[in-house]
Amino acid sequence: MNCKEFENRIPDFLDDKLNKKQANDFFAHMHECKDCMEELRIQYLIKEVPLRIEDGESFDLNSELDLKIEKTKKAIKKRSAANTVIYIMEAIAIVAVIFILFLVFTRGR
Ligand SMILES: [Zn+2]
Repeated sequence: MNCKEFENRIPDFLDDKLNKKQANDFFAHMHECKDCMEELRIQYLIKEVPLRIEDGESFDLNSELDLKIEKTKKAIKKRSAANTVIYIMEAIAIVAVIFILFLVFTRGR
């Protein structure tokens, strides 16, 4: 991912719309490119500050952004774990179907 692509993805990241692959690329570039990290912080401020001023509560958007990044990373990991479980369940289901077909055919003879 280059800087231009990163910039284009920022709104999607802020709206939690990145898929796993996109989020991985996004974070990889974010960690190696200070300019883009800065751009992300600025865009986050632009998006959040007007909302917060309406709320009238005090806020620390820099740590909130860090938190959001951590949350998204955790969500990616969780999703991969869930995918692994799904693969295993599918494998078991396929084996079960083959086994049942095997029983049906051998009984038919
Ligand atoms: Zn960059």
